[in-house]
Amino acid sequence: MSRLHQWRRLPGVAATAVAMLLSLGVIGAQTVITPPANRYSVSEDVEIGRQASVQVAQQLPILGDREVTSPVASIGRRLVDAIPPELQHREFRYSFDVINVREINAFALPGGPMYINRGMIQAARNEGEAASVMAHELSHVALRHGTAQATKATKYQIGELAGAVIGAIIGGRAGGAVSQGTQFGLSTAFLRFSREYERQADLLGSHIMARAGYDPRDMASMFKTIEKAGGPGGPEWLSDHPNPGDRSAAITREAQFLQVQDRMDDRGAFAEVQARLRRMAPAPTTKEATRVVPAGGSPSSPDARPGLGRVEAPSSDYTTYTEGNLFRVSVPSNWRELRGRNAVTFAPDGAYGNANGQGVFTHGMEIGLVGTETPNVRTATDELIGSLSGSNPGLSRPSRYDTVSIAGRQGLHTILSNATGQQERIEVFTTLVGDGGLFYALGVAPRDGFSAYQATFRRVVGSIQLNDRDPSLE
Ligand SMILES: [Zn+2]
Repeated sequence: MSRLHQWRRLPGVAATAVAMLLSLGVIGAQTVITPPANRYSVSEDVEIGRQASVQVAQQLPILGDREVTSPVASIGRRLVDAIPPELQHREFRYSFDVINVREINAFALPGGPMYINRGMIQAARNEGEAASVMAHELSHVALRHGTAQATKATKYQIGELAGAVIGAIIGGRAGGAVSQGTQFGLSTAFLRFSREYERQADLLGSHIMARAGYDPRDMASMFKTIEKAGGPGGPEWLSDHPNPGDRSAAITREAQFLQVQDRMDDRGAFAEVQARLRRMAPAPTTKEATRVVPAGGSPSSPDARPGLGRVEAPSSDYTTYTEGNLFRVSVPSNWRELRGRNAVTFAPDGAYGNANGQGVFTHGMEIGLVGTETPNVRTATDELIGSLSGSNPGLSRPSRYDTVSIAGRQGLHTILSNATGQQERIEVFTTLVGDGGLFYALGVAPRDGFSAYQATFRRVVGSIQLNDRDPSLE
């Protein structure tokens, strides 16, 4: 057993003695939980969470409805007040937001920001079950499990750690690759915990529940509710928070030693939140809510088009954007910046919109990074184009590649035609970046106006600066 995690259970107590202790108001034999070793400071937890929460707000749809968010935040504050005093950190700033997506999931960032998916709130059978997920998440924060986990790895910079979070949240191969391009292997450090940490969060969560006036056994039943909600691959929350073994039984056992203090009086506020959510349009999936794909339409509905308006020609004035510590680029100043799952799209008004829940655009550029297993830029580019074909069945295969210079390193270039939705051309620029990433820029324009856009695409690509090291120099 790692010395990072000290588990001590007080000597066993006979049932009658337990009854006596409880009657005296003494909590006997509950598990003592010691936070794991951590070489980060408490204020570093706060800073990582603050930086990551900015990215979360940019990339995920935060629900703005106060009649939902305010009761959820009240549950959160009640739980925060019930964190045992020895685990309270004055510097932490707890906050509670609801994300308008369908998956049964929730996550909390170091230092306090917590996000609960609408799907999780809708799945809970009662307020106690919803509170139990929040109490579990709060326990990871209070025990500083995110930075404790990062402690086991190389010493990373704070900005790198914050940057690692978003890829893990949004998930998927490409999402993970965003962070892996710069911080290999860290992408899930704050969200996917070891079984030992899970055991700690289950137990501390049950203590917090009881201290806040909730029945800790609601946590055991919530795990069953989440499991049943299943679906292919099971709910995301359970893969981020793996079962430490016999989870429900362990919580029920611990609950015997806990006294529910000042039992909360359910006045139906949570049921009203659920009723309100049921009246809203169904929540999209995270993928639908965050994905921006090039080109018009999607396979299921080739005619779906973004709300096209008049599209202005690219301005000759350019504006510079900096994307985290990954790259800088200058784009026409009348192009807007649209953040997607693993990429940023720059497009003018009238050229972008939504089709079947997916962001689409007809004029402009998408710039991003995907993970790749191959050190061969050509193979990696073939893979990228193959993945684009998934959402663009009318996309042609590359007939040839030219070599070009991108940010001073060797890259590839090709032009594809796309007959998904409208007839258009997609100009592809790629180069490898450190730690297994393929950096790409895709220029998209209708076939008829394409030649007028090519000079703009080249000027944008010519302005790109990459901040990783050039893998061809190694
Ligand atoms: Zn957990």
